[in-house]
Amino acid sequence: MKQGPRKPVGYPAGVERLIEEFARLPGIGRRSAERLAFHVARSEHAPDLARAISDARANLRICVECHNLAEAERCTICADPGRDRSIVLVVEQPRDLAAIEQTGMFRGVYHILLGRLSPLEGLGPGELTIDALEGRLANGTTVREVILGLNPTLEGDGTALYLAERLRGLGVRVTRLARGLPTGAPLEFASKAVLADALHARRSMEEDREKEGR
Ligand code: ZN
Repeated sequence: MKQGPRKPVGYPAGVERLIEEFARLPGIGRRSAERLAFHVARSEHAPDLARAISDARANLRICVECHNLAEAERCTICADPGRDRSIVLVVEQPRDLAAIEQTGMFRGVYHILLGRLSPLEGLGPGELTIDALEGRLANGTTVREVILGLNPTLEGDGTALYLAERLRGLGVRVTRLARGLPTGAPLEFASKAVLADALHARRSMEEDREKEGR
């Protein structure tokens, strides 16, 4: 492709467009975007990458049960008859689910909140999938335990407390991941061992409340 004579940066328009698209991605600055764009533009796998991106986008759905990413009505976990449907692990995002699945220690199912309560960002209970979670626990449910697996941040803790309060009296045991997780460190970056421990040593929200003595 030919350049206009006065263009300040000497990239072909197609490459420039690719750089702009990469630069939109989270955590990618202009420099990284340039590096990726040069690499991709010259790669023989570029058509595969382009197809993978558009296929993933076109086939992407949200699981009707847990709000995980899916390519069918139900995600692969909800569709798996081998999973224990009596235990529901509540997490903020699909990437938290992925981190816990990596441990291979959890055989239950999930519920994705699609965020956490954040008054500063205008995220209230209505913006999360809390109503849907309550719906899953409504009459005739097989669920006997809900594990709150929110990130160990101020907002994550606030969301866990809110949920524990809201799920109270539904006849379901509410627990949370143990505090081996360092405060402020997102679940998705925790090691498998730490996550497995946090899951294994989970504690009842009710006991915590009593221990803190109000
Ligand atoms: Zn699902």
